Amino acid sequence: AEQAARAARDAGGAQHLFFDRELNAGARDRVLLENELRQAIQGGQLCMHYQAKVDARNGALMGAEALVRWQHPQRGLVPPGRFIPMAEECGLIGPLTDWVLEAACASLRRWSDRGLRTVPLSVNLPASSLADPSLLEQLERLMQRHRLSPASLMLELTETMLMRDLPATSQVLARLRDRGFGLSLDDFGTGYSSLSHLQRLPMNELKIDRAFITDVARGGRDSALATAIITLGRELGLQVVAEGVETDEQSQFLLARGCELQQGYLFSRPLPEEAFELLLRRGSTLSVPTAAAA
Ligand code: C2E
Ligand code: MG
Ligand code: MG
Ligand code: MG
Repeated sequence: AEQAARAARDAGGAQHLFFDRELNAGARDRVLLENELRQAIQGGQLCMHYQAKVDARNGALMGAEALVRWQHPQRGLVPPGRFIPMAEECGLIGPLTDWVLEAACASLRRWSDRGLRTVPLSVNLPASSLADPSLLEQLERLMQRHRLSPASLMLELTETMLMRDLPATSQVLARLRDRGFGLSLDDFGTGYSSLSHLQRLPMNELKIDRAFITDVARGGRDSALATAIITLGRELGLQVVAEGVETDEQSQFLLARGCELQQGYLFSRPLPEEAFELLLRRGSTLSVPTAAAA
């Protein structure tokens, strides 16, 4: 019995040791990656891509979403899903958001200086931002420094972050909106906000999550939900945007239900600043759904 116990202990010990080693490797990797991200924020490895938001009836450019990317010297272009959560966990989300806001405003100013008709830029804000008492002041300073109007920025927030402390966030939102900033509820339908909450939030826009758009033209449950969200948004006087529109069928389906504002690969991928500038010059994207174009 003692032998068996020792064997079990040894096995457990060995397993433990193995696990420890894996964990240590993970932790070491993480510290490395965190340091890299810190350097990336300071050292110019981040860049913004811009994705068109269009009126699907004619492809007219109505806005754009600013999406951050990390140009890692070895790993290549790292998508935000891979480093935003890490930035949130290790306290780098503040500096990262500062960088994103600065970059988006600098782009708007550059486009204006080049005589381009700019469109409002949507910027994704992290959950922590609304708890930051200096957010409004920071945004106003940015507007002054880049000589922009608050209406040229739309702040994208998710349901989950708004529901954390509804009375407090409603106040912050009301103040932002009073100052003229646009407010968009991103990824709508995936969170837990109740419909009565939605009515009390001072939003300008509601973005239907891509999950509802994916098989919308096949008449399944998602199409019923997408239809309901469009109706709801319109009834509440909100601008409704569909994100992740990839096919003609999806676009047509949404158009038939009165959702004209669409964003997705069908119209344009997120583009580096210079490529997006070409869309600004044209004032529209190349592709519109075939039936709308006809
Ligand atoms: P999101 O705000 O919902 O952004 C939309 C995402 O869908 C983007 O992914 C975009 O590239 C992608 N997308 C657009 N059209 C299509 C399409 O037709 N098909 C498919 N399959 N995907 C499409 P991305 O750029 O990887 O960003 C992912 C998420 O990371 C964003 O989701 C947003 O939550 C977050 N994020 C991006 N940039 C920032 C940022 O600057 N700050 C913060 N805090 N979060 C950001
Ligand atoms: Mg977004
Ligand atoms: Mg979204
Ligand atoms: Mg989404």
